[in-house]
Amino acid sequence: MTQAPLIDPFARPINYLRVSVTDRCDFRCVYCMAENMTFLPKKELLTLEELDRMCSAFVGLGVEKLRITGGEPLVRRGIMTFFESMARHLDSGALRELTLTTNGSQLRRFAQDLAALGVKRVNISLDTLDEKKFADITRWGRLPQVLDGIEAAQEAGMRVKINTVALKGFNEDELFTLVDWCAGRGMDLTFIEVMPMGDLGNEDRLDQYWPLKDLRARLEERFTTIDLAENTGGPARYVRLAETGQKIGFITPLTHNFCESCNRVRLTCTGELYMCLGQEDMADLRAPLRAHPEDDAPLVEAIRAAIARKPRGHDFDYSRQQVGGQMSRHMSHTGG
Ligand code: SAM
Ligand code: SF4
Repeated sequence: MTQAPLIDPFARPINYLRVSVTDRCDFRCVYCMAENMTFLPKKELLTLEELDRMCSAFVGLGVEKLRITGGEPLVRRGIMTFFESMARHLDSGALRELTLTTNGSQLRRFAQDLAALGVKRVNISLDTLDEKKFADITRWGRLPQVLDGIEAAQEAGMRVKINTVALKGFNEDELFTLVDWCAGRGMDLTFIEVMPMGDLGNEDRLDQYWPLKDLRARLEERFTTIDLAENTGGPARYVRLAETGQKIGFITPLTHNFCESCNRVRLTCTGELYMCLGQEDMADLRAPLRAHPEDDAPLVEAIRAAIARKPRGHDFDYSRQQVGGQMSRHMSHTGG
């Protein structure tokens, strides 16, 4: 790092950047996207070179962990060029981890190359092991292709963590099937509470809401859970299952219990920096980037000004049986 690190007004060091590289996707998961999506015109998107400049500026400011997401990151044309260029920060030691969150559909094609570049872990989203239900929830996805992608990632030597959105009446009955399936393959599993985003109305969203404390209670009917002290600085809490040794995560973005240790910010594919997952405030970093093609100083200044506005916490609240603090933006835009 060549410059003073990023510290927000609440003395939290910001060392983790999530970057959405596209708003597009080859799936249309019902909780994430509408079936007929209008995607952004190309000129709005950061080019691969701009993404490189942007991420490199953050790395220069002490960001040590970069998670690439979307939309579906692996459908962005030329994305491997971007991963290749980011790998130089791994080689230099500036970046400790380069990783991605993917739906797995393109991993058969890219897993070997990603692993060779130094991507050691990958998060793959999978809500069900039932082919028909998979087709329903993703609208466009095919389960065998994703399972093959997961296999490819493991063959390439990457650690796979499965992310499952907990959906009432949808995958409640697969809780143990999913846990066993992951245990059999040496994969950790993290459950995500569904968030009030996307196009479904509030009522639908509440219908789908399966609180993770209920999920965990169900899990404990069969397994002994051991709390892990591990703090990732994010909304995940982890336990180990005594019987399988497997790590199970619970992501509850609607609770406030993690904000005090929040170490991350999110960059959209158009170069907007969101300082908090649950707040609308953002900073346009594309403008200073494009206005000064040869000089990163204005960009760095804009990043610092944005971090100085990072709020203490967020506003989601399901508690009164209505969705408070509902976000109009999509997960596919900000990146999950
Ligand atoms: N396409 C990639 C994928 O599906 O893994 C990366 C982007 S996706 C937006 C990142 C994560 O957000 C996925 O695990 C997805 O299940 C989750 N997600 C999307 N919409 C959500 C919502 N409304 N509530 C909770 N999680 C959501
Ligand atoms: Fe695509 Fe991921 Fe959103 Fe599903 S959750 S529609 S795979 S971006």
